[in-house]
Amino acid sequence: MSKHCLFCRIISREVASDIVAENDDCLAFKDADPQAPFHVLVVPKKHISSLNDVDDAQTAGALALMAAQVAREGGVADSGYRTVINTNGNGGQSVFHLHVHVLGGRKLTWPPG
Ligand code: 5GP
Ligand code: ZN
Repeated sequence: MSKHCLFCRIISREVASDIVAENDDCLAFKDADPQAPFHVLVVPKKHISSLNDVDDAQTAGALALMAAQVAREGGVADSGYRTVINTNGNGGQSVFHLHVHVLGGRKLTWPPG
């Protein structure tokens, strides 16, 4: 837990969010500035700055499983969705607590900008 980290403060409920799923390892909540009709962020409960800092398969697996779970529960699994992890500057990361974007509910374009 880092008290200066926005997503740690969401995990501890100091900052309000619209939570859609939770387990021992991860929390999922709606993105405050959705880029698609369905846009959820899945974060590990322990503070990890970026994908570069993941060193255990438990965390990586838990994030992937919860991403698929929220897509299923959000009704976008069959129509399709995209999972994105932005990393550092060129990746467009703006919050330095690892998070998986889960986007769906519309046809997503490729390649990304
Ligand atoms: P990044 O740019 O780091 O990949 O993604 C950060 C995401 O966090 C953005 O999509 C942004 O809209 C979202 N975000 C930033 N601040 C908040 C907040 O206070 N609450 C929620 N729910 N999402 C946030
Ligand atoms: Zn954090």
